[in-house]
Amino acid sequence: MPIYTYTHLEDSSCPHAPTFDWQQVARDWPLTVCPYCGKPVERVLSAPLVKKKNFNSELRDKGFTKLVRVDDGIFENVTRRPGEEKYVDRRKPETFPKLEKTIED
Ligand SMILES: [Zn+2]
Repeated sequence: MPIYTYTHLEDSSCPHAPTFDWQQVARDWPLTVCPYCGKPVERVLSAPLVKKKNFNSELRDKGFTKLVRVDDGIFENVTRRPGEEKYVDRRKPETFPKLEKTIED
C-alpha cells in the first residue's frame, strides 16, 4: 500500500502535526480530517519518482544536461542520453557527457 503525506490545515496541538504519513489503498478517498485529532488535513502531493524522471527527460529534450551530485566528485547524469555514462566522475573525462553529440542532435 502506498504511503501518503498529510498536512494539518490549521494549527493543531495534535501530536501528529504538522504532517504525518498515512498508509492507504490508492483508490481510497484521501483523508479530509486527521484520524488522530479530527482537524482538517490535506494530502501533500509529493512528486513521485516517475514525475521527476519525466521532468528530467523534458530537460534533456530541450538540450539541457543535468548533473546531480551524489558524492565527492561524482555526479549522476540524470539527463543521460544513449551512450552516456550514468555517473560522471570529475577525475575521469571519459565519463563526461558527450556534448558534441548533444549539439549534433
Ligand atoms: Zn491531527
